[in-house]
Formats: sequence, C-alpha cells, structure tokens
Amino acid sequence: MHSYSSRIQEIRRKEYGYIKDVTYLDHAGCTLYPSTLMHRFAQDLTSNLFGNPHSASPSSMLSSERVENVRARVLKFFNASPEHFDLVFVANATAGIKLVMDGFRDVDGGYWYGYHRDSHTSLVGVREHAKASRCFIQDSEVEQWISSPDTEDGIKLIAYPAQSNMNGRRSPLEWCGQIRRNKSKTYTLLDAAAFLTTGNLDLSAHDEAPDFISMSFYKIFGFPDLGGLIVRKSSADILTKRKYFGGGTVEMVISVDSNWHVKRKEIHESLEDGTLPFHNIVALGHAMDVYQELYASPKNVSAHTAALAKSAYNRLSTMKYSNGSLVCEMHKDPLATYEDATTQGPTIAFSVHGPDGAYIGKSKVEEAAIKQKIHIRSGGVCNPGGIATVLGLSSQELQKNYAAGMRCGDNNDLMAGKPTGILRLSLGAMSSMADVDKFINFMEETYAKNDKPMDFSAIGMNEKIRSIKKQKSLRFRTMIRNITRGHQQVTV
Ligand SMILES: *Cc1c(COP(=O)(O)O)cnc(C)c1O
Repeated sequence: MHSYSSRIQEIRRKEYGYIKDVTYLDHAGCTLYPSTLMHRFAQDLTSNLFGNPHSASPSSMLSSERVENVRARVLKFFNASPEHFDLVFVANATAGIKLVMDGFRDVDGGYWYGYHRDSHTSLVGVREHAKASRCFIQDSEVEQWISSPDTEDGIKLIAYPAQSNMNGRRSPLEWCGQIRRNKSKTYTLLDAAAFLTTGNLDLSAHDEAPDFISMSFYKIFGFPDLGGLIVRKSSADILTKRKYFGGGTVEMVISVDSNWHVKRKEIHESLEDGTLPFHNIVALGHAMDVYQELYASPKNVSAHTAALAKSAYNRLSTMKYSNGSLVCEMHKDPLATYEDATTQGPTIAFSVHGPDGAYIGKSKVEEAAIKQKIHIRSGGVCNPGGIATVLGLSSQELQKNYAAGMRCGDNNDLMAGKPTGILRLSLGAMSSMADVDKFINFMEETYAKNDKPMDFSAIGMNEKIRSIKKQKSLRFRTMIRNITRGHQQVTV
C-alpha cells in the first residue's frame, strides 16, 4: 500500500486542470473525473464499434463482452465473490433503492419497513409502499430492535445509509450480519452512495454483508453517471419475483391470447429493464483503471481524506471572533470522530454565527464563498431526518415553515429564528490541504477577523440605536444598554 498524499499537487495538475482556479468542496454531491479517464473513454469509443448488447454481430458482442467484464471487475473492487453476489446496473443509487422497493411491493401480504434517521430522501420514500414503517431515531434504537424478539409480521426490510450525506456520520456495517442472525424474514438495504466516495467496502465476509447495496458510480469515480445495486444471491428471490418485466428481462413472453411469460434466470438479467447504459459501462471500466493507477486503493483515499477532514474540522470548530465567541456551530454527531473512519467520513456540516451569536443565513455564506470561487453545498441536502435532528426542528416547526412558504432548496435561510438548512463541506480523493487552507482562510477573512470595532461617536444616539435594533438579538440589546450608558465602541 502506498499513499498518494505526497503526490497530490502533481496529480491535481495533470488530471484535474479544470479546477485549477476553483476550490471544489462538494464531493458528496459529485466527485471529479480525471482527464486520463475522459481521454481513454473517447479513444475507446472513437476506435471501436459498440452495438446494442445481446445480438450475434461483432459490434454487439463487443458491448456484451465489455459489460460482463466490467460487472465482474466491480464485484472484485468490493471483494465480492461472484459465487455470492451479483451486480445489477441501474441509473443511480436512487434507482437501485427503487428496484429493491419494486420487489418488496410485490410480496404477498406486503412488507414492514424500518429506516434510520440519517436516511437520504431516496430511502425515506420506500416507506410509502410499506404496510407499516418506523424511523429509527438513534443507533441504540436499531440495536435494541435487533436484539429483541420479532414483533412485526411477515417480510421486513431495514434500510440505512453507510454514511450520512448530510454530516458524514457513519453507521455500523455490523448491523447487517446481526440482523441476519437475529431476525426472521428480514432483509437489509445499505445505501452506500455517500460512503463510497471515500470509504472502503469489503464484502469478503459474505454472511456479514447487506442483502442489497445501492451506489452511484459518479460519486466514486466522478464519471460515468451510472449506478449499481449489489445483490446477495441467497437473498435475490424477493427481487426477481417482482411482477414487472421489460426489455431483455424475460426468456419468453406471449402477449396475444395469453399472459404467459418466463423471467430470465440470472439475477441481473431479470432486473435490468431495457437496454443497458452500455457506453457508460464501458466508461466505468476505464474509470476503475485510472482510479487504481492514481490512488491504488480506496484505503488510501480514506486515509488521505480523513486527515484533511480532521484538520478542517479542528480549525473550523475552534475559530473565534475577537470577542471570543465561536464562528461555527458544528453539526457532528457527538459520538463520531474524524479520527475513526468507522464513525465518520470526510464531510463537515455546520452553521455560521455572527459575533453576537445570531445565525448568519446559509445562502449568505454560500454566496460569499462563490465570490471567492469556493464551491460548497447549503440547504437541506435531501436529508430530512438528519437536518431535523441537528437543527432541533420538530415536525410542527417544519410544517409551520412549509405553511409560511419555505420549500426545499429555496433561500428561506432562517425561519422563526432557526436555520432551515446547513452548510456542507465535503472532500474527495483529489482534495488537497491547499483546498482546506483556502476555505479556512475564507472563513477567517469573511467572518472571524471581520468584526473590527466600529466607531459610532460620529453619528447621533437615535441612529445608533436604530441601526442596532435591526439586529434583534439579545447581545445587541445588551449593546444598546451599554451605549446608552455611555460606551462608544460597538462590535458589529
Ligand atoms: C447522493 C446520495 C443518494 C442519491 O444518489 P443519486 O445518484 O442521486 O441517486 C442517496 N443516498 C445518499 C447517502 C447519497 O449521498
């Protein structure tokens, strides 16, 4: 194993020239593709003829051969033996999750669904077809549920993200094996989309593995826009029994006079509806090659990004104004630590306060960052449970905000004095300490050091108070008291 950290500047210059003028800190949204990948992909497509797979022509056979080759390599990337696992190509992680839901929806008697608070909306939506569902609010609730006797009837599906896309908190992967041993008729669905950007998933212990693992390859390799669902073969029945078929998923169909049809036997064949995104799958092969050449292994990416995240977190969480108050409120889980990759990935969620303690709107911070060519993410980040938890928003408050006009993705930063979303900084394989320094420097210049005392002696007392009253915080009210008592220096 070798670390690439010492070569990061060279890698950046050669492979990611297109970000030389920007500081890109949104790898949880999408990580970046190396130039070599795009060149090899273009070269391959412009020198070979790829036809629609599954015919006898050489162009079609070339596509089929590549698709099966890449399928095998993806399984190998995760140490998933083809004896125990299959890979289904899907559009993205959400499509993989939805494919699992399609199988469960068609189960006689329906299914019970349990999902973790940290779930992305893609997992939350699976509850809508369940006969009953439960959101687990704490890890301890999940653990208690695992170790207690079954109370729910019939088929059960438990889903959780390996890593929260909101604050990078990681959940125990051991739950899947424990659930298999302790609970009856219970399947596990792991949303690995955020985790795999920097995490190392090893499926060599197949009995401990989740039944279904959903992922988006663009979040691992930057390109192609393609997803995968890894299915544990011994648990595949529940998916292959789904009612729908389409495109190449059947051996034979009769449509005139009869509804008879026979599904394909291979798991992936019976689940890949319509023409595979075969050009994207060709690209995925090159993506894995180049990833291995640059970074050798996800373990190196994990170590590299963990070190950067730790530094960023430590500096942001201790950054202060001259009056001693903290600039950032960190939304890290108290039990997670950037020193331990099993509990925390390299994503940092936070809110910004002014020197008086009042919140500064997330959109204001993001706008200021954009002016410095820094790309971060702000908002609810498709993680309703995580946001409600870290911001302390009750369902009543959320509904009130909705009634007052707030919508996902809008600029209603603060409602009833509370933030509606967070700021998120996330790192990827090609992030560097220079990116982190740039962001820290931006925060210091824009906030921490930008609270110089202002001289109010030149303007009249009423104007002084009026300008201060605009900021309705407690601290400002204290300031007004101080001014009226004769203090002339105010910090704003
Ligand atoms: C990004 C993400 C998703 C959704 O991925 P898509 O590619 O949009 O389908 C789901 N879950 C998590 C944890 C994510 O980070």
